[in-house]
Amino acid sequence: MTSAVILAVGDELLTGDRRDGNGVWLAQRFAGLGVELLGLHVVRDDPERLAHAIADAAAQAELVVISGGLGPTEDDRTRAAIAAAAGVALEHDAEAWEAVCACMARRDRVPAAGERRQAQVPVGGRSLRNDVGVAPGIATRIGAAEVYAFPGVPREWRAMTEAYVLSGLGGDVTSAEAAVWVAGVPESDVAARLTDAAALDAVAVASYPHDGEVELRLRALGADASARVAAAESEVRARLGPDVFDAPEGGRIEHAVVAALAVRGWEVATAESVTGGLIARMLTRVPGASAVYPLGWVTYATAQKTAQLGVPEALLAEHGVVSAPVAAAMAQGARARAGVHAALATTGTAGPDPLVEAGREPVPPGRVYVALALQGQPTQGLELTLPHPREMVQRLAAVRALDLLRRALVSQSTT
Ligand code: ATP
Ligand code: MG
Repeated sequence: MTSAVILAVGDELLTGDRRDGNGVWLAQRFAGLGVELLGLHVVRDDPERLAHAIADAAAQAELVVISGGLGPTEDDRTRAAIAAAAGVALEHDAEAWEAVCACMARRDRVPAAGERRQAQVPVGGRSLRNDVGVAPGIATRIGAAEVYAFPGVPREWRAMTEAYVLSGLGGDVTSAEAAVWVAGVPESDVAARLTDAAALDAVAVASYPHDGEVELRLRALGADASARVAAAESEVRARLGPDVFDAPEGGRIEHAVVAALAVRGWEVATAESVTGGLIARMLTRVPGASAVYPLGWVTYATAQKTAQLGVPEALLAEHGVVSAPVAAAMAQGARARAGVHAALATTGTAGPDPLVEAGREPVPPGRVYVALALQGQPTQGLELTLPHPREMVQRLAAVRALDLLRRALVSQSTT
């Protein structure tokens, strides 16, 4: 297995002005090719720090790939730093200079004095042609390590790492990967339910929380990687059962819901209060949503819950607007008025303040009721306590509502 270190060079990556996208992109490619990435570091445009970082990387890894700092300006220090780390001088490469001049001529530009530095190469190294931009890359050896540097412009970085690094890797390494998604369960519970799962010992497991959804990534490299990932995936699915949702490739809970509705030829309506249209937004993000989602209401004022959805005033007076019976009445009203198979409703307090209604106990922020009215079935509900900032309360409530519908659709099809 090849070991590697990636260095992303640039002051702008350390001021917070720009994120390192190049290193992350290459890290993903390496993961897929079975390269063992020992480090991904962001380094300033500072000759000494850069030379140290390069020497350190070359002492550890077989492959060092550097992004940025190859341009013509004073702050482009990567060439000099590579030479310093290798303990050699820089020399002018006539062929590289010709390529730089030709490339600039094609853009109707005349090389300025500083441009010449782009044709400098550490003694013993070689210049690598850039077919997408001006600045050539560099390849050289430092000790046992193969060191590459490419311009930081993302389009050039990708084309050149592809051409000079990635194309020569991987062939014999097999890797496999699977993702399992869960909603409605905290990440810590997911982890607890997977402890001692023997099949997971043979793969690398990573868990990523996504505000109400949890993504589990299972990866393996080497011989029978696919078989090990498949065994791990089936064990995870067996342990997590109906908490796992299946979405099309790259999809989230809303994709799973739209797909499950489409399979049945069903439609859903929404009656939202605390989520303020977020469920509608999530559903309509999905291509093809129009086949399953004809109508939604945002009834934010209490009076509109009565006017638009027919929630009885007596019910509001008896239970308060943030209550399970009101959520249920909203869902039933929406289902009847839209003439659809299913309707989701939310009512709650997003905070930061509690809801105070005359003559009633205040409702704490983060209290949410979700209801699902389904044709031919009793209305279902959830009471949620979400001690989070306002937008997170809305997001988590929307995910739980969609997940409630998804679970109901799955159990429909199995009964
Ligand atoms: P070159 O070697 O071509 O001069 P450079 O990094 O020195 O590359 P800059 O002018 O610093 O050139 O950056 C060119 C563009 O590429 C800028 O928009 C910069 O934000 C972007 N860039 C540089 N490094 C990265 C990185 N690691 N991830 C994403 N974008 C980057
Ligand atoms: Mg730079």
